Amino acid sequence: MPYDESVPPTPRRRPLLAAAVLAAVSLTAAGCGAGEDGGGAQARPVPGGGTTAAPSSAPPSKSAPAPEKTSASTAPSAKPSKSTGGRATGPLSGKTVVIDPGHNPGNHLHTREINRQVDIGTTHKECDTTGTSTDSGYAEARFTLDVSHRLRTLLRAQGANVVLTYDNDRPYGPCVDERARIGNEAGADAVVSVHADGSAVGNRGFHVILPGLVRGGAADTSKIVEPSRDLGTRIAGLFVRDTGSAPSNYVGGNSGLDIRKDLGGLNLSTVPKVFIECGNMRDPKDAALLTSAGWRQKAAQGIAEGISSYLKG
Ligand code: ZN
Repeated sequence: MPYDESVPPTPRRRPLLAAAVLAAVSLTAAGCGAGEDGGGAQARPVPGGGTTAAPSSAPPSKSAPAPEKTSASTAPSAKPSKSTGGRATGPLSGKTVVIDPGHNPGNHLHTREINRQVDIGTTHKECDTTGTSTDSGYAEARFTLDVSHRLRTLLRAQGANVVLTYDNDRPYGPCVDERARIGNEAGADAVVSVHADGSAVGNRGFHVILPGLVRGGAADTSKIVEPSRDLGTRIAGLFVRDTGSAPSNYVGGNSGLDIRKDLGGLNLSTVPKVFIECGNMRDPKDAALLTSAGWRQKAAQGIAEGISSYLKG
């Protein structure tokens, strides 16, 4: 089922910034049409000559379940993982990127804790949700960690300081408010929350979620709306180029972009931040991509290049 923190229960069509994405990449019917099957993951020429890391260079997916805790356990306080300091050189040297792997493989074991309501400024929402999975049982939370690890490797290779909001080092969460806080306290130059959708069969493709303008309580996105739009537009364009996947055919009017005002992870952010839904885990064709390590590497490459493009201006 759709993840409430990132996925609306019903498809919406809201054309947005289509021209910007279309300008950023050649979104023609050739190669990225909505009917494209797994062949969409074939390699494409990379104008601009960005380096492409081999899939084998990425760390393996962590499949071990998070350690269990009793229901009486208090909220874990694991520190977000930090990059090893001291040696950052490269075009992104001095930049901090926070990667937020959506959900947690252990969330389903901690329903009481993740159902706790947290203040997202404009309203209250669940601490976190379990996320979705493919029909064959590949959990979104495993997907998000895997892509996040690949993304971290690519960004560190460019000299960025990379922080993950969690790294399979806690039994559940973080809550959405803490996910936002980690990015804020890191003083991140960019934050990307990695997800995959859970929608109806036939709904295909990726979309990037941008923060809408909200004010309320601790939420004030007025300073991040525009830079986040820039960040998200660049990621969308380069995700198309690197994966060959088409923008969502069910959200965003084929622009690959959507705006949300109901996500705590965005509303509470004080630094540029977007979500990306990399595909629909419930669609068999998208699932074939999402479960492919080679495709996940391309997805990470597209996101990394989008972040890099944004940070370099
Ligand atoms: Zn999700």
